[in-house]
Amino acid sequence: MLMIDCPWCGNRDESEFMYGGEGNIVRPQDPESISDDSWSDYLFMRKNTKGLYMEQWLHSYGCRRWFLAERETVSYEILNTHKIGEINPESKS
Ligand SMILES: [Zn+2]
Repeated sequence: MLMIDCPWCGNRDESEFMYGGEGNIVRPQDPESISDDSWSDYLFMRKNTKGLYMEQWLHSYGCRRWFLAERETVSYEILNTHKIGEINPESKS
């Protein structure tokens, strides 16, 4: 059983959470000024990392808040969780 540490509620069973994909995706400041390829990359292209990966999770059967989790994709271990905006998107992968 995987336990996930919600930044607001503490350790809870994985079944209370919903995976939300890659975390810390930064929306372009001015979408009208970028190319269609860049906009498409923002919408659809995600990393397929082997190793440390930043993800977003929703505590859907708890506080219903989104948060970030640093997960090791090889071992599936979640190393840290953070509230949204707690860490700089440019500093983490
Ligand atoms: Zn929670």
